Amino acid sequence: MAELVQQYLDRIRAEHADVTEGELACYIPELACVDPSRLGLSLSLSDGYVYESGDAAIEFTIQSISKPFTYALALDQSGQQAVDAKIGVEPSGEAFNEISVDDTTKTPKNPMINAGAIAAVALVPGATPDERFNRIQDFYSACAGRRLEMDHAVYTSERDTGARNRAIAYMLQSFGVLGGDPDEVLDVYFRQCSLKVTSTDLARMATTLARGGINPCTGRRVMDAAVVQRTLSVMVTCGMYDAAGDWVSAVGLPAKSGVGGGIVAVLPGQLGIGVYSPLLDARGNSVRGVRVCRSLSARLGLHFLTVTRESSSTIRARYDLCEGVRVYELHGDLLFAGAEQVLRTIEIERDDYDVAVLEVSRIDDINDAARSMLAGMRTALTAVDKEGFLVDPDNKVVPTGIRQGRDVIVFDTLDDARAAAKEFRAG
Ligand code: GLU
Repeated sequence: MAELVQQYLDRIRAEHADVTEGELACYIPELACVDPSRLGLSLSLSDGYVYESGDAAIEFTIQSISKPFTYALALDQSGQQAVDAKIGVEPSGEAFNEISVDDTTKTPKNPMINAGAIAAVALVPGATPDERFNRIQDFYSACAGRRLEMDHAVYTSERDTGARNRAIAYMLQSFGVLGGDPDEVLDVYFRQCSLKVTSTDLARMATTLARGGINPCTGRRVMDAAVVQRTLSVMVTCGMYDAAGDWVSAVGLPAKSGVGGGIVAVLPGQLGIGVYSPLLDARGNSVRGVRVCRSLSARLGLHFLTVTRESSSTIRARYDLCEGVRVYELHGDLLFAGAEQVLRTIEIERDDYDVAVLEVSRIDDINDAARSMLAGMRTALTAVDKEGFLVDPDNKVVPTGIRQGRDVIVFDTLDDARAAAKEFRAG
């Protein structure tokens, strides 16, 4: 079966392999020394299974794809408030290396342009540049699931030619955005940009984001889910240099590209993609990388704004357990809209029963909004002289320990709920 997916990837890669448009990045001299014909494509599913096609084992420097990860680390370590005070979240519409800050706040417009990325480095805790860099390297490595190392030639090449980034760092210092010494912060930034990855590393890093911060291979939580949500948000609006609008329309995946030729793309909850091809278009995005991602998204239906057929129902079954006692069995992932549908159905049918029993043992996942809505069902029913019970043996809706309260009455089995329902009807 896996061959089917492999064939899809191989075909898509082959379709774009002959494209020779684009130029190698040359403003960092060492980046111009790579083989322009390379094309690697990796797809990592949420359980960590990886499909690879072409040059998926070739290492290249991560460059700007480092930006969302350092931003995530800064959010994780310094907290959103501290980060928001120094870096905005608005698309800039400018080139990635524009020497600019927001007119009003005097802070970088977002973390995906160099100004914001350099500010993010300064928000990663560390008493020395080495300590800060080690933290960054460890974090990327934890996302990739293997130790990532630096390309020293690329690092030196950028360090020795990085006048523009120096201008940006000193400008940030003048606006009070950079806490530390601009040269020290920049050195860490150059080092992070020169970490080496393969397209498979990128796919795994993407899947760590897709899984809400859990590395699919190691099972380790690398960052908080709230950090992931914020990071993916800025990837959607600002991830593809000044081509973010085109990208969202055509591909529809939170993504980030780098001048090393890589692209990382995330389908939240499902998968991660890594592509490598070093020839860049005028905006700095990999020409074949973008084309491959467009094809992947179209053929595999990956656009994150695809409106799927409304899932038939979160109620998998409803029946009368005995006279006056109606059971609603739920399944799948329960979010706000699903919980609302359940509560509305229970409400509409309330003349048909005395006791409603919500059986939630087959729910896969539930968020806080749905949890508190379902837990409030009893209050609504008792107000009209009815009763509502939950059958929740694994404490998916109601935390461990709580079994009887004013708002909820919870049972482990349907039989227990039936006995209590009979008592309620008799009494
Ligand atoms: N190290 C590069 C720079 O700051 C990264 C640029 C990029 O990939 O967009 O210029």
